[in-house]
Amino acid sequence: MAHHERNKRQLLELLKRPLNGRCADCGAPDPHWASYKLGVFVCLTCSGIHRSWSHVKSVTLDLWDDELVEFMKSNGNDIARARFEKAVPAYYYRPQEHDCAVLREQWIRAKYERMEFTGETKYPPISYTTGFYEGELWKKGKENTQFLKRKFVLSERDFTLTYYNKKDESKGPKAIISIRDLNATFQPEKIGHPQGLQISYQEGAHTRNLYVYHKSSEEIVTWFNAIRAARYAYLKTAYPTGSDEELIPKITRNYLKEGYMEKTGPMQKEQFKKRWFVLDSQKRKLLYFKDQLDAEELGVIFIGTENNGYSARECVPQHSRGNKWRCGVAVTTPQRQFVFMCEQEMEQKEWMDALRQVLSRPMAPQDYTTKVGKT
Ligand SMILES: [Zn+2]
Repeated sequence: MAHHERNKRQLLELLKRPLNGRCADCGAPDPHWASYKLGVFVCLTCSGIHRSWSHVKSVTLDLWDDELVEFMKSNGNDIARARFEKAVPAYYYRPQEHDCAVLREQWIRAKYERMEFTGETKYPPISYTTGFYEGELWKKGKENTQFLKRKFVLSERDFTLTYYNKKDESKGPKAIISIRDLNATFQPEKIGHPQGLQISYQEGAHTRNLYVYHKSSEEIVTWFNAIRAARYAYLKTAYPTGSDEELIPKITRNYLKEGYMEKTGPMQKEQFKKRWFVLDSQKRKLLYFKDQLDAEELGVIFIGTENNGYSARECVPQHSRGNKWRCGVAVTTPQRQFVFMCEQEMEQKEWMDALRQVLSRPMAPQDYTTKVGKT
């Protein structure tokens, strides 16, 4: 069919238009799928989310009729952005190519299905725009693995996140958490739930982790953006001269690298023990935990810069007692040397790359206070 061939060529031409070169929803390069209901070009993964309710076709594998091609010509990612992303709040999280399914799915549904950002509907919902949100989340017990329903209250008025223990709600809150050092990051694999969210905050010298989920993906993403709205409002107050460009990356952060390594003690003769490590790039901290869902870390190593006497290199440990793993990473700080063992070379390489990324980034004034606080 000649016109199908011509139509495919025209579609491939359309993909060269500025915003069509990237997925309309996650920004992945070279999208080869299209929603001919919305007039957007998307990547394979996002097309799978669209498939359940919008109409998608492959640019290269499907046959396209003239009218659908005309529709794509008169629409496209630029026009869709102007309409469906007209009123996205500055703090609202826009998922990227490698983000988890719940974030990508809810971004697509919020945009096109609920039309939260067109400025035409009742959305964005009051949940993340009023500075106050409450509801129930399933929270993992501090000392056990059970997830129980708990009431959470987020308030921008005093910049707190509060939660209550079900039975003794009358006794007052179980914890009042300051928004100041709060972070939230989706961790579906670690938590073992597709809507699993990790909330971390500073409790004295320790980092405290809460693991929560909600059965509704819309609800958990709303919580996440409500937290982001509160963090954004807090940052605006704390750094009144900060631009959006500076403040938005500080709202919430994902960890640069996480995983198990074996660790020995300061003499490097102690028995190696398997620990869960988390590299928090923004805070320049390498934290380690006994188990991956622990509430508090066993220890924390500040990662400065090479100019300040910090370094990381691959190594073979001199004394190996109890280690099952063979690929070593040595981290040197002005105080001591740490030796960690990775299971595979791939892991070792990823840790080295992640550590080098932190080591090569100049320290900010507040990093010096963190460092002093830890020694
Ligand atoms: Zn995509």
